[in-house]
Amino acid sequence: MTHIAIAGAGIGGLTAAVALGRAGHDVTVYEQAPEFARVGADINLTPNAVCGLDGIGAALRESAAQPTHRISRTWDTGEETSRIALSETALDRYGAPQLTMHRADLMTALESAAVAEPTVAIEFGAKVTTVDPTTATIEFADHAAASADVVIGADGIHSAIRTACFGPDDPDFTGVVAYRAVVPAERLAGVPNLGAFTKWWGPDPDTQIVTFPLNRGRDIFVFATTPRSTWTAESWTMPGDPDELRALYREFHPEARALLDGCDTVLASALYVRDPLPAWSMGAVTLLGDACHPMMPFMAQGAGQAVEDAVVLARCIDTVPGIPAALATYEAARRERTARIQVGSRNNNWLKDSGSGDWVYEYNPWTVPLGDAAVASPA
Ligand SMILES: Cc1cc2nc3c(=O)[nH]c(=O)nc-3n(C[C@H](O)[C@H](O)[C@H](O)COP(=O)(O)OP(=O)(O)OC[C@H]3O[C@@H](n4cnc5c(N)ncnc54)[C@H](O)[C@@H]3O)c2cc1C
Repeated sequence: MTHIAIAGAGIGGLTAAVALGRAGHDVTVYEQAPEFARVGADINLTPNAVCGLDGIGAALRESAAQPTHRISRTWDTGEETSRIALSETALDRYGAPQLTMHRADLMTALESAAVAEPTVAIEFGAKVTTVDPTTATIEFADHAAASADVVIGADGIHSAIRTACFGPDDPDFTGVVAYRAVVPAERLAGVPNLGAFTKWWGPDPDTQIVTFPLNRGRDIFVFATTPRSTWTAESWTMPGDPDELRALYREFHPEARALLDGCDTVLASALYVRDPLPAWSMGAVTLLGDACHPMMPFMAQGAGQAVEDAVVLARCIDTVPGIPAALATYEAARRERTARIQVGSRNNNWLKDSGSGDWVYEYNPWTVPLGDAAVASPA
C-alpha cells in the first residue's frame, strides 16, 4: 500500500483520490477551503471526461443534462455553420455521452465517491504552503507538516506545489474577459435549440456566446467572451454587471440577445494563458490538472484533462514499480496530449466549421496504454 498525499480537493484531486483508494492505497487529501461550498457555475464534461468519471463510479446523471447537438451559428445572421449530434450518438461513438452540469453537483458526486472509500481521508482548512520534493513533506499555513510516499499537486491554477518545485509562473492576460451566468429555461420561451450546446461565433475571434443546458434542462448556462485591454485578478468567483454584458452584445442576432436578457447575475473572469510546462514531476512530487496545464475554456477540457490525468496517474502509481518510474510513465503518457489541447484551446477555432472531435473525445484514460514500465492495468 502506497501512502499518497494530494493537495487540493478539486475535480482532479478527488478523482485521483477515489481511483487510488479503490486500488487499495492510503490517500489523504488536503484542501484549503473549510468545507465544500456551492461555488462556480457550469462544468461541461465531454465524453472522455465522463468515461473517466464513470470509472470511479461518480453519480453524474441525476443532475446533469445531455446536450442533443453541438451547433455553430454566426453572430449576426444566425446562420448555422455546423451541427454535430451528441447524446446517444456520442454514447455509441465514444462509450459515454457529453454531460453538462453545475460544478457544485459534480463536486457533490465526487465528494460522495471519496467518502465511500475507506482508505481516503479529506482534511479541510489545510492550506499547503510548500513541499520538499526530496522527502515528500508538505508544509501548511496552519497545520502540522505531513509526509507521504508521493505528493500530488492538484491545487489548481495558482498551485503552491508547482511554485515550490518549479518557481512562480508568469501568466499572460489574453485580453479576453469571460462572463458566466445561469438562466432559468422558463424565461427563454421561444429561443430555439435550448437542449443543444450552441456557440455563436462573433465578429472577431475573442467575441462569442456559448450556451448549454444545466440541471437536466431546467437552467441554461451562458458563457460570453469579449476583448478587454486591462484586467487585474484571475478569479472564478468575481461578480460582473449584466447590463454591461447585454450592451457588449447588442449587435448580435435577436435569439442570442434573448439569452442575455434573461441574465440576472453574472460572474466575470479574465482569461490568462500559460505555455506548456517542460516537466511536471520532481522527486516524489508530481502535478495534475490546472496545476500543470491550465488552459483556455474554448475546447471545454479543463475538467476533462484533470480527470484524465488523475486516472492515468492512479494507474501508473498502482502498476509501475517504484515512484520515480511511475511518475515518469505518467508524464510520458500525458504531456503531449495536454500540451496539444492547451495550444488548441488558445487558438479558439475548435469545431468551428467541421471536424468530429474524435481525437479528444474517444480517449479512455482507463485503457490507454501506459508504456512498457506498467506491469498490469486495472480495468
Ligand atoms: C472556486 C472554483 C470555481 C470554478 N468554477 C468553474 C466554472 O464555473 N466553470 C468551469 O468551467 N470551471 C470552473 N472552475 C475550474 C475548473 O473546475 C478547473 O479548471 C478544472 O476542473 C481543473 O481541475 P483541478 O482539479 O486541476 O483544479 P480545481 O478544480 O480548480 O481544484 C483545485 C483545488 O485545490 C484547492 N487549493 C488551491 N490551492 C490550495 C492550497 N494551497 N492548499 C490546499 N488546497 C488548495 C482549491 O481550493 C480547489 O479545491 C472553478 C474552479 C474553482 C476552484
